Amino acid sequence: MGCALLIALLTPGSLYALEHVTLRRGDQQQTVSGKVAVTAEDGGLLLMTVDGTLWTIEPEELVDRKEDQQPFHPLSRDELAKQMLSELPAGFEVYTTHHYLICHNTSREYAAWCGALFERLYKAFTNFWVRKGIKLHDPEFPLVAIIFNTRESYAKFAQAELGPRAPSIVGYYSLRSNRVTMYDLTGIESLRAAGDRRSSAAQINQMLAQPAAEQVVATIIHEATHQIAFNSGLQPRFADIPLWVSEGIAVYFETPDLQSAKGWRNIGAVNTSRLDRFRQYLPQRPATSLKTLISDDKRMRDSHVALDAYAEAWALNYYLIRHHPKQYLAYLQMLSEKQQMLWDDPQSRLKEFQAAFGDNLGQLDADFLRQMQKVR
Ligand SMILES: [Zn+2]
Repeated sequence: MGCALLIALLTPGSLYALEHVTLRRGDQQQTVSGKVAVTAEDGGLLLMTVDGTLWTIEPEELVDRKEDQQPFHPLSRDELAKQMLSELPAGFEVYTTHHYLICHNTSREYAAWCGALFERLYKAFTNFWVRKGIKLHDPEFPLVAIIFNTRESYAKFAQAELGPRAPSIVGYYSLRSNRVTMYDLTGIESLRAAGDRRSSAAQINQMLAQPAAEQVVATIIHEATHQIAFNSGLQPRFADIPLWVSEGIAVYFETPDLQSAKGWRNIGAVNTSRLDRFRQYLPQRPATSLKTLISDDKRMRDSHVALDAYAEAWALNYYLIRHHPKQYLAYLQMLSEKQQMLWDDPQSRLKEFQAAFGDNLGQLDADFLRQMQKVR
C-alpha cells in the first residue's frame, strides 16, 4: 500500500473509456489496458485493468496513452478464468461459486470447501454492515482466490509479492492484484492426524475445526475479509484507510465458524487470542497509545510491536462498534468515500477521528479501557 506516492489532483475522468497505456519499467516496455481512476498533478496514473489489477504508473514510466472508443468493461467470469489459467503454472483448475473464482491445483473438495466458507463469510459480512445502514454494492469483479496444493509451491509463487517472508505467511490478500493467495491447509502435517487430505467436505471440516487449526483458518478468513471489504464498497483500494480500521475489521471477522453450514454465528464474538494479547500489553501501554494507533500506520507495520497494535486495533473496533455505533458507522462511511491515491498526514487522521468521536481523546481512552476490562 505504501508505494511511491503521486501528488494527486483528481480528475473525475470521462466515465471510464478504455485506455491503452504504454509504459517502460526497467528495460521492459508493455501496454496495459483499463480505466484511469486517477491522474495525478505530475502526470502519474492509477489504472485499473479489466481483471481488477491496479497499476500505479509514474510519470517517467509513461510512454504513450491512447483512449479507445470502447467503454471499460471488467472481464466476464469466463474470460477472467481463462486469463488466470494462462498466468498460473500448469495443472490449475477453476472452481466457481456465486462470487468467487477459485483457481486451484488441489482437490476439488478442498476448493469447494473454501468456496462455501467464503460465500458464508461474504453473506455474513455484507449482512452485518447493511443491517447497520452501510451502503454496499456487488463486487465489480469476480473475487479470485488462488489455492496451491502445497505450502512449498505457494511460497515459491508468493515470493514475487511477499519476498523472503513468504514461507511464514499462511495466505494474503493483495490490494494490487485484488486476489487472495493461499495453500491447502489440510496438507499441514501437524493437522493430518485427524484425516486424509483427499477427504470429503465433512472430513475437511473436522480436520480444520480442531483447536490446532484455529490460527491458520483465522488467517485465511482474515484475508478473505479484506478482499470482501475492498470489493463491496466498504473500503476503496489505494485510498487512505487507516490500518487500525482495515486490520481491526478483518480481525473482528476472523474468528472461524466451521460448525454452521449456512450462517456465521461468530461475528463480533470476542477474539480471545487478540483479547489476551491486548491484556498482556496493558501494563506497558503508554498514555499515548490510542493517539499513536489512530494517527498513522507505524505501529501496525512495525513487526516488533505489530501484534500489540493488532490486538489494540481489534479492541478499539470492538469497543466502538458496541459503545459508539452511530459515530463509528459515520466514520466508516466517511472512509468509504476516500479518494484514491490521496494520503493523509497524522494530523488529518487525528482530526477526522476526533470529528467522529469527539475531541476528548483522554476521556474516550479511559472509557475504552474500562469497557474492555469487562469483556470476557
Ligand atoms: Zn490484514
